[in-house]
Amino acid sequence: MLDDGFVCLVDCMGDDAAIVQAARVSYGAGTKKVSDDRTLIRYLLRHRHTTPFEMAEIKLLVRVPMDCWRQWIRHRTANVNEYSTRYSVAIDSAQSTSPGEWRSQSSVNRQGSGEFLPEETGRRLSESERECQQVAARLYSERLEAGVARAQARNDLTLCTYTDAYWTVALHNLLHFLSLRMDEHAQWEIRQYATTIGEKIIQPLFPVVWEAFVDYRCGGMFLSRLDVGVIERLTASARETGAGAPHSEEAFLAAQDPTWADLTRCRERDECREKLVRLGILAAE
Ligand SMILES: Cc1cc2nc3c(=O)[nH]c(=O)nc-3n(C[C@H](O)[C@H](O)[C@H](O)COP(=O)(O)OP(=O)(O)OC[C@H]3O[C@@H](n4cnc5c(N)ncnc54)[C@H](O)[C@@H]3O)c2cc1C
Repeated sequence: MLDDGFVCLVDCMGDDAAIVQAARVSYGAGTKKVSDDRTLIRYLLRHRHTTPFEMAEIKLLVRVPMDCWRQWIRHRTANVNEYSTRYSVAIDSAQSTSPGEWRSQSSVNRQGSGEFLPEETGRRLSESERECQQVAARLYSERLEAGVARAQARNDLTLCTYTDAYWTVALHNLLHFLSLRMDEHAQWEIRQYATTIGEKIIQPLFPVVWEAFVDYRCGGMFLSRLDVGVIERLTASARETGAGAPHSEEAFLAAQDPTWADLTRCRERDECREKLVRLGILAAE
């Protein structure tokens, strides 16, 4: 992962069948054909019957830059044991950024990244990153050599220093983690880890669950009551005027939710517009 990270499957309890087995306690014996198992898993995931997905558990060993780990550790429903830089010397590795990997600040999302910066700028930034990491590593070893406690010597290590951790999590909570961290709104670095865990580890271990997860969580679309109202008004006016999809921006604004109408900027309206464009109901601008 990245330049020096990894994700390693240590242990796994359960499989698709374990979820079906747990669910059948509540749903009764029923039929037991493979196709029924698939139908049952898809039903459970679609309708958020979550506890059967807690019957399977995965233990990973991961190596992650500390800034990425700071996001990861916010997922409280996992069991964690992390490498201690009070007890041991810090891992002698920090994530480095190659010249083509520097991203600009997004102009539309305050948390997001935009386009890649020009390679020439990137070369300068990669060089100064290397210098900074070298200075930090030198300070750290000088402090250790001078007898400073490891707990204090680490204070100026860069945020992209790698850390190792065991991470044990129930499948249900892992899917929640993946749905948030594989999403395009998550930071690129943690997205790389989440996508790898999903596609390389969970997909082969739980193929039916994975298929349902991709269908209902990753590839699905959530429509709020307000979104549904916009679609209903759009189609109703189209019936009257005979206009077909894709509808115009003007028609969209006429059909928007009344609570959005007075707002010059409205994120919810923008998100609704994006959904309708994706569905082909609205013309792309
Ligand atoms: C794109 C993105 C941007 C983010 N930006 C920020 C940010 O700017 N600042 C920031 O601080 N965080 C930020 N976060 C972190 C986010 O707010 C969550 O803390 C993180 O994603 C963990 O989600 P979670 O609590 O649902 O997961 P988990 O901790 O795994 O919890 C899973 C579920 O269990 C339940 N649960 C767990 N613990 C409790 C509890 N103590 N009380 C009640 N219910 C509980 C909740 O239903 C929760 O959804 C961001 C996350 C993402 C994905």
